[in-house]
Amino acid sequence: MVDRVSKAEQYFLDKIRQGDQQAWSDFVGRYRGRLLRFARAKLPQRADAEDVIQECFIAFVRSLDRFRGDCDLETYLFALTRRKIIDSYRHREARRVCLLQDTLDSSVEEAPSDPLEQMASPAETASWYARAEEQYDVQKAVLAEALGELIDGFKRALRFRDLQIIELLLYCQLPNKRVAATMNVSEQTVALVKHRSLKQVRDTVERKKVPVGPSSEQFENLLTDVWEYHRFSCPKRSTIGGFLLQTLDDEWQRYVDFHLNVLGCRFCRANLEDLQHETLEQQQQLHARIMESTVGFLSRPT
Ligand SMILES: [Zn+2]
Repeated sequence: MVDRVSKAEQYFLDKIRQGDQQAWSDFVGRYRGRLLRFARAKLPQRADAEDVIQECFIAFVRSLDRFRGDCDLETYLFALTRRKIIDSYRHREARRVCLLQDTLDSSVEEAPSDPLEQMASPAETASWYARAEEQYDVQKAVLAEALGELIDGFKRALRFRDLQIIELLLYCQLPNKRVAATMNVSEQTVALVKHRSLKQVRDTVERKKVPVGPSSEQFENLLTDVWEYHRFSCPKRSTIGGFLLQTLDDEWQRYVDFHLNVLGCRFCRANLEDLQHETLEQQQQLHARIMESTVGFLSRPT
């Protein structure tokens, strides 16, 4: 598996683990804004969202030793934030919360099965990154590699239509019919792209002789799980910046627009909104608050 933590991030982590306050402050500054945007999409009151972000950073600094580095830091922080949002919803006894996307949801009556709904259940809140079953880990690692290859192939060949179809099927778990309507293609086309893509992934997995569960439903659920964890199709923050400035090539500009506005990826919308708004004063206040509440958890330099 590819190491998901970049050298720069690793440098940060090492410093933070040594109790370096400046590194921690820089780290908070780097991620605070996008996490706040992410939280505010579900918690419209700024104060509630800020509570959640503060708790997220506390949870992060306290669990530093357990962070395994097999997903990038942004994804890990989003996962922690999501767990805190779900907690805060639970306190309000709200039952359902969809955090992946809602642009599509809001436009239809029959709600698609939400891959994240299960995360709102008390038993399994965002704990997938901490699951310890070895077999499951191996499956996920192999699937991640296979799925990563498939999606990179789409991107390299600029086959964005196929990428979008697979995204809607696996990342959003929409039924074929809705994917066809969203993409303005026939259901046959959707079925064909799905068949070819899953076959490619299965073939790769079988070459490695890893069992991935007997039913195709289980297989697809696992793929959704892995996709969400690695966010294969999410554009980088710098790409979202490029989208805002309209400096991307046409195909990419259209694809990022789709990802943000049709699929409505919550993580990427949080980045987009963070890049668009936020006053300096608000940033500084939240920053100070996070620092105050987390610095005590940093280990002291020896
Ligand atoms: Zn995304």
